[in-house]
Amino acid sequence: MLPDIKRCERCYKPISWVDRADWYSHIRIKYCDECRPIVEREKTAARLKRFRERQKEAAKIRDQKLKDLELENLVLREKLKAMWGDENHDTDNNGSGNV
Ligand SMILES: [Zn+2]
Repeated sequence: MLPDIKRCERCYKPISWVDRADWYSHIRIKYCDECRPIVEREKTAARLKRFRERQKEAAKIRDQKLKDLELENLVLREKLKAMWGDENHDTDNNGSGNV
């Protein structure tokens, strides 16, 4: 059950009385007029931060996968070289320069 007096969740100032406000605004209100824009700004900043962290994490995973693939590629190249012999494949300069 809702309390009759709601207080701002940030500064605890009383913001709504059940017998004064209409029911829906009494349910919905969470912050006083001073705190509401601050809280909104903080929420937006937190959302942006989470988004950037996810992006960073995804980039890290992508980099790791790329490194794994490069390593696998290198190992396969070495195996092929060992199978075919180095002399015949000197023209291949590791593929680092031109594609
Ligand atoms: Zn407040």
